[in-house]
Order: sequence, then structure tokens, then C-alpha cells
Amino acid sequence: MNPIVTTNRTALITGASSGIGKATALAFAKAGINLALVGRSPDKLAAVAESVADVGVTAKTYVVDLSQTDRVSTKIAAIAADFDNLDILVNNAGMAYTGTMGDMPLADWQRVIDLNLTSVFQCIHGILPYMRQRQSGIIVNISSIASKQVFPNWGAYSVSKFGLMALTQAIAGEERANGIRVSAICPGSVNTPLWDTDTVQADFDRSAMLTPEMVAQGILYTVLAPAGAVVEELVIMPSGGAL
Ligand code: NDP
Repeated sequence: MNPIVTTNRTALITGASSGIGKATALAFAKAGINLALVGRSPDKLAAVAESVADVGVTAKTYVVDLSQTDRVSTKIAAIAADFDNLDILVNNAGMAYTGTMGDMPLADWQRVIDLNLTSVFQCIHGILPYMRQRQSGIIVNISSIASKQVFPNWGAYSVSKFGLMALTQAIAGEERANGIRVSAICPGSVNTPLWDTDTVQADFDRSAMLTPEMVAQGILYTVLAPAGAVVEELVIMPSGGAL
């Protein structure tokens, strides 16, 4: 299959092995955007790279554990150095967690904040020197509707996503003068393997959720915005209103 649009662009997507990240990799590939796919699972990343191979873009995989936050910026910088034109960063990797704030162990709190917030800060640190040098780039942070509304038993997740919105807005304002555009995507519930993880206890109607492909289209729209425009924030909800 030929790409729909051929571009000379490359995107680094974290959490590209599953759910929203995987769907975004496929949507970007179909738009002719080359890919650096980041996650922990080499097999799952290889399967995504294989599925985009027919589309005719370059897809390289990188095994990085983003919870090891002190190593993340160096690893992301090394990935950026592998490409001539890594001009898109999609900070998608994340985890959900349910449980009351009052009973949550400190180690669990740190795990959520490390992955959902601190690793994003570190990924941005890894890529900013390259984007500043080129005076262009797009950073897309995958936040959540939980960055706008706090749900009982989702406190730590909400704190991480509220923080991510503040990070997004701070970096957007600071890097605008360097030609770097920063966006946040805030989806409602999306039917992905996140709902099957052992840190989530929830009994939602999966069939009423968004699909990862729907969110991927919103992310693609954001990165294809004309150079003079930025999608600062995109809220995508299931039309049935399910959270
Ligand atoms: P999935 O569980 O399907 O995917 C999570 C991805 O993150 C996987 O690719 C996983 O890869 C990667 N990941 C997890 N931990 C690490 C780690 N320590 N280091 C590197 N990669 C890691 O979840 P979703 O697609 O649903 O979630 C993606 C993003 O979307 C998250 O930020 C989430 O908060 C957000 N979101 C999700 C919603 C939903 O309802 N699903 C709603 C709103 C926002 P691997 O296992 O290979 O490491």
C-alpha cells in the first residue's frame, strides 16, 4: 500500500506497542510519517513495526523503560540522533490507577507520577535541544479528561494528568519563540488494554468507549496543523458520554 501523503517527517511515539500509541503509529505511517517506536516490550514493538512496513515508511523500535526516569532524557536524545528530522514527539506512554488517595501506598503514587508526568518531562528534555536547533517541532502530550475533572478513586491518575496539562502549557509558552508547538490531547475513555491492567479496577461499558483509532485521528490532525497554527488542546469524548 502506498502512503496517502508522503512527508519528510519523523515522529517518536512512546507507548507505541499498544492501544492509542499503536493506532497512532499506524495512522502516522499511512500519512507518510516515519516512526521511532518506544516501549518496554520488544515483541509488541516489532509487531507494530512489521504492520507499518507495507506502508513504505521507516519504522525503528527502541526498548526503553520510561519509569527509570533518570535515564530517559539521555535515551530519547540518542533516538533523536538516529534521524535527520525527528520533528514530532508524542508522549503517550502512561498507566491508569484506581484506589483511594487515603489508602494509596507511597510507592504506587510515585509509580504513577514517574511514568505519567516525570517521564514526559524527561522525554521533552531529551528532544528539546534538537527542536531548538531546528527552530521547529511539535510535542503532543496524551493527557485525559481526568485532567479536567477529578473522579473518586482516580485521584493519583488525575493529579498526574492535571500536572501534565500544567507542564504542557508551561513548555508551550516557553518554547513558542523557538518555533516549537506543544499540544495536549484529552480523551474520555478509550477501549484499550489499559482497562485490563492490574492497577485498574473498573466495570465500564467497553463498547461505549472511544476506539484507539478515533483518538489517533485526533493526534494526526494535531500534527498536520499548518505551520502557522497550533492545536493547543483537543478534547475527544465518546459520543454516548461514557467516561
Ligand atoms: P495501553 O495500556 O494500551 O498502552 C500503554 C502503553 O504505554 C503501552 O505501549 C506500554 O508499552 C507503554 N508503557 C507502559 N509503561 C511503560 C514504561 N514504564 N516504559 C515504556 N513504556 C511503557 O494504554 P492506552 O493506549 O489506553 O494509554 C495511552 C495513553 O492514553 C496513556 O497516557 C493514558 O493515560 C491515556 N489515556 C487513556 C485513556 C483510556 O481510556 N484508555 C483515556 C484517556 C487517556 P509496554 O507495555 O510495551 O511497555
